[in-house]
Amino acid sequence: MDLALPEFLAHAVALEQEAAERYLELADMMEAHRNDAVASVFRSMTRFSQLHWDAIKLRVGSITLPQLRSWEYRWRSPPEVGGEEGFDYMMESYNALKYARANELRALEFYRTVADKSSDAEVRRLAREFASEEAEHVAALDKWVAMTPRPSTTWQDDPDTLPPLV
Ligand code: ZN
Repeated sequence: MDLALPEFLAHAVALEQEAAERYLELADMMEAHRNDAVASVFRSMTRFSQLHWDAIKLRVGSITLPQLRSWEYRWRSPPEVGGEEGFDYMMESYNALKYARANELRALEFYRTVADKSSDAEVRRLAREFASEEAEHVAALDKWVAMTPRPSTTWQDDPDTLPPLV
């Protein structure tokens, strides 16, 4: 995906903002269910996303960013999970962790693709840097998934991936 710097930065800003908001929601949800361990995982992920978001905004500086459509960066649930059911479903920390992991992986793959395909050296450099941060997030969530009991209701095929971002 050959993105110019402003398009790339617009995606990165939107992805980090979205991640920070979703993690905050997940943290509150886990806390409401007295799952303090997983709530604190999501609180630290919120903090990392906010820090990264701030760093990217500094890099943006005075560059004018294009508007994106929300489907280009919003976090997604697996197709089987929808509406009210989706909410109950996320109460299980295993499912919430898998949901976060699938979306982190989607961001990681986006950055990797850009790092491979962009014709702009600065975009490739930033994309590589962001990909390695996302890889750390995926690895951190993997550890938690491994320590979390698998509930009786999981995603049908327990998917690890979502369709690509763009
Ligand atoms: Zn991340």
